[in-house]
Amino acid sequence: MHPAARASDSNLVRGRFALGDFEVTICTDGTYLLDGGAMFGVVPKTLWQKRAAADEENRILLGLNSVVVRTGTATVVIETGIGNKQPAKMRAIHQNQELLPASLAAAGVDPGEVTHVVNTHLHFDHCGWNTTLEADGSVRPTFPNARYVAHRGEVEHGRLQLDRDRVSYLAPNYEPLIESGQMTLLDDGSIGSIVPGVWVELFPGHTAQMLGVHVESGGKHACYIGDLIPTSHHVEPTWAMGYDLDPLTCIEQRKRFLGRAIPEQWLVLFTHDHHVPAATIHVNEKGKPVATAMFPL
Ligand SMILES: [Zn+2]
Repeated sequence: MHPAARASDSNLVRGRFALGDFEVTICTDGTYLLDGGAMFGVVPKTLWQKRAAADEENRILLGLNSVVVRTGTATVVIETGIGNKQPAKMRAIHQNQELLPASLAAAGVDPGEVTHVVNTHLHFDHCGWNTTLEADGSVRPTFPNARYVAHRGEVEHGRLQLDRDRVSYLAPNYEPLIESGQMTLLDDGSIGSIVPGVWVELFPGHTAQMLGVHVESGGKHACYIGDLIPTSHHVEPTWAMGYDLDPLTCIEQRKRFLGRAIPEQWLVLFTHDHHVPAATIHVNEKGKPVATAMFPL
């Protein structure tokens, strides 16, 4: 068992709360393991291991949080985890569990009720359950009635299949949806509202066109910040990841995000923090941003 594993890890629903008139539920595709060095970039292990315990292979435990927002007229799913298309070799490396369908069921969310699916970007661990791999090898949309939304730049980047990151861009997660017309590709000019109270904004750095997803109702504001700040351990702007394509932009965008999230006390929703999926951010006595969990798990 990974040293960071906890009893609460078996909870299929990671949290549910009201945000104004909206119901927000944090579902999960389970946990997975990534190299701690890659997750903390140039930060020395002597510093990061105080926050994130590594196993004997230097891997840290991460979550795959998928947020369901029910607005009253729409059901929006933000991010869809790793999915069930990973080859056995990759599953052995990541130790992921393919839990999102069970998590949605446990939360009482019927895939057929979902009206919108938003992907912050198209890395394999963010859009895996966009589609489901069937036993006969075919792929079908997991959310048959949903309009899927992603940034066109992400698709174009994925299609380049660059040496650096082609392993992260798996066509069956999005190409069938583009082909069938079920996925809308946003351009910089068309970025904005998904449904009333839910909108997207560009936060580049991790990828060139990564989107954050804002949710606002009754004066309450939450933001799913994707891989700009993947866990509560990454709120320090300089703690960028080795995976970030442009760490300098990432640092500037984190500062821009915190410049609004801290004074306005946004609820920050982390993609990859299994134990702290939602937090507010404060500045401590040393002047450093720190996350305060809404509900530690
Ligand atoms: Zn990513």
